[in-house]
Amino acid sequence: MDKVRVRFAPSPTGYLHIGGARTALYNYLFARHLNGTLVLRIEDTDHVRSTDESTKAIFESLNWLGITHDEGPYYQSERRDLYKQYAQKLLDEGKAVYQDDPAKGRAVVFKMPEGKSIRMDDLIHGVIKFESKFVGDIVLIKSDGFPTYNFACVIDDSEMGITHVIRGDDHISNTPKQIALYEALGKPVPKFAHIPLIMGEDGSRLSKRHGHTSVGEYKDLGYLPEAVFNFLSLLGWSPGDDTEIMTKDEIIKRFTIERVKDKSAQFNLKKLTWMNSHYIKHKPAEDLFGLAEPYLTKAGYDLSRFPKEKLVRLVDLYRERIKVVSEIAGITRFFFEDAVNYQPEAVDKFIKTTEGKAVLGAVQDELAKITKLEHEPLENLLRSIAESKGLKFQGVAQPLRVALTGSSVSPPIFETMELIGLEKVKGRIKEAIALK
Ligand code: GLU
Repeated sequence: MDKVRVRFAPSPTGYLHIGGARTALYNYLFARHLNGTLVLRIEDTDHVRSTDESTKAIFESLNWLGITHDEGPYYQSERRDLYKQYAQKLLDEGKAVYQDDPAKGRAVVFKMPEGKSIRMDDLIHGVIKFESKFVGDIVLIKSDGFPTYNFACVIDDSEMGITHVIRGDDHISNTPKQIALYEALGKPVPKFAHIPLIMGEDGSRLSKRHGHTSVGEYKDLGYLPEAVFNFLSLLGWSPGDDTEIMTKDEIIKRFTIERVKDKSAQFNLKKLTWMNSHYIKHKPAEDLFGLAEPYLTKAGYDLSRFPKEKLVRLVDLYRERIKVVSEIAGITRFFFEDAVNYQPEAVDKFIKTTEGKAVLGAVQDELAKITKLEHEPLENLLRSIAESKGLKFQGVAQPLRVALTGSSVSPPIFETMELIGLEKVKGRIKEAIALK
């Protein structure tokens, strides 16, 4: 088989949405699996709605996801002469006509041959037939001189040697028009694969109502590109078994159009978030810190006060407790800010009790005797306090956690204490004992 050539052809009229990203991804996976070529084409012929800002945002999102192209970007707005030439050819052959509108001007319209049956053999949906009389004539060049989507798309797919058109189901109704144009131009018709749309959890088409729909929003929330990549790959495709977590290379290796489902996929935020925690857990500590840093800075924390290795350790300790990286800022607040943000329920439950205060008092007395926080002596010290009070270890650890971090959820208490440092630990215990 000749090398496959596919394209991703976004219209730059907004951000890259989950649906568009999945289309881009499936084209990418198809091309990489078969060692083919992915062309990037910007369909900016709607000059009113197309913006450079959208184009930039689309590039950024593709880049973030690691969806690389091999050719392009081509811009349809720069190829208008070509579309005009082809329109002229169809006019000359009598297959298209001018249509004058006194208000708008002159357009070029393709006359759909009558009584024809147009057959589309879709790689996902099988054969679909359309009667030409229901397809109707097709505007090729609008009165503003710009080509329509259907025309520019056919010219470009043909000129760019596209062998497979992989795109969303919402374009199925355009396909008979495009096939009719290929035939009129005497060009080979590419293969089509229409991917079923993505639905929200309520079964209706995924939209803003369902929450975040653009790739950029997920990036900003602290989703990792590998999680979104992995998640999107499974949104309509299956590797044939139950495998869910897969590396990019593994997905490329296993991806085939035959395994793209012909039923719509459901966007499941819980699953995406679960995958994200997985990738957070497995990220090297330094890299995870790199991802966390912007959120910490944005929260107003002065990172320059701490040695980097300490910050890396802090983030590392908390990786198990965050599902998206943006959560790192709130959960590490105790470390950066001098004033502890006590959670009232945690204080009531673990500190304001006779037992809580007694435990903290005992810890305070013991800490007064030491000059350094070291894991082992510290552990012995806390365990012996628990023993002397007839408590389980948690009976000591919980009041201490709340006193030090304000919350009853924190990573192992020893690491937390070491991170905070002895002097601050003492100060916070004193403050907690004084809570009324
Ligand atoms: N510009 C079209 C879109 O964004 C491309 C459709 C196609 O892939 O043919 O929907």
